[in-house]
Amino acid sequence: AEWTPDTGWANGRVVPYGPLSIDPATAVLHYAQEIFEGLKAYVHADGSVWLFRPEANAARLQRSAHRLALPELPTDWFLGSVTALVDADRDWVPSGGEKSLYLRPFMFASEVFLGVRPSQHVTYSVIASPAGAYFKGGVKPVSIWLSSQYSRAGTGGTGAAKCGGNYAASLLPQQEGMEHGCEQVVFLDSTEHTWIEELGGMNLYFVHSDGSIVTPTLSGSILEGITRDSIIQVARDLGHEVVERRVSIQEWREGVADGSITEVFACGTAAVITPVGTLKWDGGEVTSGDGEAGKVTSDIRSALIDIQYGRAEDRHGWLTRVS
Ligand code: PMP
Repeated sequence: AEWTPDTGWANGRVVPYGPLSIDPATAVLHYAQEIFEGLKAYVHADGSVWLFRPEANAARLQRSAHRLALPELPTDWFLGSVTALVDADRDWVPSGGEKSLYLRPFMFASEVFLGVRPSQHVTYSVIASPAGAYFKGGVKPVSIWLSSQYSRAGTGGTGAAKCGGNYAASLLPQQEGMEHGCEQVVFLDSTEHTWIEELGGMNLYFVHSDGSIVTPTLSGSILEGITRDSIIQVARDLGHEVVERRVSIQEWREGVADGSITEVFACGTAAVITPVGTLKWDGGEVTSGDGEAGKVTSDIRSALIDIQYGRAEDRHGWLTRVS
């Protein structure tokens, strides 16, 4: 679909996947005025297809749009766009195992204009792609590199928006992490360089030996993960106390070392929940767990996945039927 100030949103249509033809002076290529979302459609045992919390993705897209000076996309356009793609060919929603149809809505500045101001032509599109199980050989802990030099986002910046620029800022630290044998990077706050924010594409949780679960408070520069929010509720349903508060990097290091933190996990739409094993930094490392997912991590993961695949009661009303 396309937006201009005169027409509003118009020209919504489903087209075969293929290249976009872009003028070299298209605003997004120069100023990164761009946002996106990620969500999944799941097939249940009876063959019906469901989206997980699409209204939450629609709401987050609105917040991102606001921060990037992009036009609001009405929630019914958002829901209509993802539903139309799922309906276009029911058979491309994979079933069985932990398979799903990954949906990637995105919106970008498509005006051909080199001046720096909000684009007066905007394009919204959705890619759909069948996704296999995230973990092929069982759920295995990932290792995390602590980026001591770089931040992903700063106070007053775009950290809470899902925009491409945040990911651009995370790529050099990601490369550094990979050079140190780590799969992911943990970012700290940009002022005190003390407080844990999130990974490049996932939020973090810490399980304490008393059974309580802690996740960093939404600081204004953390992405408000929909999985993060769902876990708060699922963990409470399972009887855990869940606390949102600031967590320092010292607490992670010392808590794992002295046993007060028993499990660490990360969460996001793609993997749902990933156990975290080793935290590495320039000069040291600590490892939680024994190379397998911990019990609390596994229980919360199963509880959430069972809701997504219709094997457990949807008591929070998170599922929307598509077909
Ligand atoms: N943080 C960042 C930076 C992300 O890119 C993602 C993935 N969207 C998340 C957290 C997790 O968000 P969600 O649970 O909505 O996928």
